[in-house]
Amino acid sequence: MTALVDVTGRLRKMPAEAGDPVSYTIRVGDTRVPLNEMVGYPLQFDFDGVIRCIHCDRKTNKSFSQGYCYPCFRKLAACDSCIMSPEKCHYYEGTCREPEWGETHCMVEHVVYLANSSGLKVGITRGSQVPTRWIDQGAVDAIPMVRVATRQLAGFVEVACKQHVADRTNWRAMLKGDVPELDLVAERRRILALIADDLAGLRTTHGDNAIRAVDEEGLALSYPVQVWPRTIKTHNLDKSPSAEGVLQGIKGQYLILDTGVINIRKYTGYEVRFRVFPNN
Ligand SMILES: [Zn+2]
Repeated sequence: MTALVDVTGRLRKMPAEAGDPVSYTIRVGDTRVPLNEMVGYPLQFDFDGVIRCIHCDRKTNKSFSQGYCYPCFRKLAACDSCIMSPEKCHYYEGTCREPEWGETHCMVEHVVYLANSSGLKVGITRGSQVPTRWIDQGAVDAIPMVRVATRQLAGFVEVACKQHVADRTNWRAMLKGDVPELDLVAERRRILALIADDLAGLRTTHGDNAIRAVDEEGLALSYPVQVWPRTIKTHNLDKSPSAEGVLQGIKGQYLILDTGVINIRKYTGYEVRFRVFPNN
């Protein structure tokens, strides 16, 4: 059968644009394939065993921190443990792995937000990453709550919130579309009241202007999903290098195939042949 799309190259995180529904593109090497219109079509990934670091292009046997080789994982600020735990930012101690990167990625305005991806969660992101971050998490609704001057301050606010609200998505529930309805404006009011003392303490230390509660509007998001899976099976290209199935939907960074889901983000840097076949 002649494929409609047949491209080989390194996988990257899927670019997505907010809309009703969100509009996805898959990046394979230098090729970008619009994916929404492929829902309903059979597709196939074949991993050839080569992973190339998305930073230095070096071949690596294993992907670290979603797409990096081990030397880059050890060297880059983007792979430091403070990225996962922003409250541990050590820029001020003069030990940032890449201070210039830190200045553009961490020492800039961040947003602490509430999202509904599989229930209420708190999260943080750089101001410029809204709404990309929300889409990557498969949120159906999200709302800014606090704007802060740095990534570390966002981490401090998030730590305070974690006593009251989850910071993780249950990705299986997210992919099943098993999401409760939430009033995020009301939730924001509730959480801000619960962390009022924490915010006051942070303002005393870091200045009033460094932490700003906001009343901005939220954003509702829908995803191009035709059929919600009832049970979640996952394709694992490390164990089984070929994955095929009919594309039934796209949510977060996942493709939902009738044979299981595949987390494209997890395979960033993997060299694959990607094919789409006619759907008759
Ligand atoms: Zn590298």
